[in-house]
Amino acid sequence: MKHNFLLSSVFISFIMLVLIGSPVLAQTPEAPTYRLNLNRDFGYGLGADIKGLFTLSIVGPEDLSSVSYYLDGELMAEVNDSPFSFQFNTNQYLFGNHDFTAVITNAAGQTFTTPARHMNFVSPEEEAAGTQKVILPIILLVVGIMIVAGLSQFALMRKRNPNGIEPGTRRNYGYAGGSICKHCGRPTPRHIWGFNIAIGKFDRCENCGKWSVMQAAPYEILRAAEELEKTSASQAPTFNEKSDEDKLRELIDKSKYN
Ligand SMILES: [Zn+2]
Repeated sequence: MKHNFLLSSVFISFIMLVLIGSPVLAQTPEAPTYRLNLNRDFGYGLGADIKGLFTLSIVGPEDLSSVSYYLDGELMAEVNDSPFSFQFNTNQYLFGNHDFTAVITNAAGQTFTTPARHMNFVSPEEEAAGTQKVILPIILLVVGIMIVAGLSQFALMRKRNPNGIEPGTRRNYGYAGGSICKHCGRPTPRHIWGFNIAIGKFDRCENCGKWSVMQAAPYEILRAAEELEKTSASQAPTFNEKSDEDKLRELIDKSKYN
């Protein structure tokens, strides 16, 4: 009977512990809930490789009274004030592998040691090599995207105008302006992707697809050339009539004196 009573009381206390006791269990020294946090303020960090200015702090219950930070078992700093963080520069220590730990004293006077954190303080050379490893693929990716974007724009343009622009169409000349093509004599928008050279833009005509150096023509000239296209298109399939070309030359010459 006595034995039975003992068993049931053990069982009841176990149930009580499960119901209300879990926070009590968590705070026993055998189960520390504190964790050492390493935050980069300025510098380099790639996995465990770090270099620069960092701040150590404690993550866990907020009943701290003091924290001692250790590097390879040697005291770096003892902090007695909130937020119990400590800033350091990896330059102050030797390059290579290091272990961080912190010894925490809580308000009740209990002490806890955090699990060690393994870090590698890299040299400037290692940092440069590591940065290159990260930067190089990004550069390649950006260049790749630019090439794909350029090609697709080119393909889209050709698809949209398989036989050039309909004569007399009002073009949208946009940011880079427009020019009169030296090959076909028709107005064409200049492109942002055209090659800028001292005397103009080496660009592709949207009418005939040929490349030439294009100087930006005044807006009135471009509009007049569009109108001219209409009349020449109604008279002849191509823009080759001497009179129309002469008219255009005249307009361009006039604009030079304005
Ligand atoms: Zn052309």
